[in-house]
Amino acid sequence: MMRCPNCNSIDLGRIAENQFYCWHCFIEIADNNGKLEIYQVESDGTLTAINDLIDGQNEDAWQVQ
Ligand SMILES: [Zn+2]
Repeated sequence: MMRCPNCNSIDLGRIAENQFYCWHCFIEIADNNGKLEIYQVESDGTLTAINDLIDGQNEDAWQVQ
């Protein structure tokens, strides 16, 4: 089961082969060979990297199936 590394929600949508969107906290998650890149989607559609804002405590739960 995939979970959002930020809010731990399972409410994730796949938007590309290795990209996911969390409908709960509105972030985009890119799985870069197991290294997660996390972006916040701004209202104008641009992406802001927020990796530093994620403490990573939930990253262990991240498993792409
Ligand atoms: Zn989330």
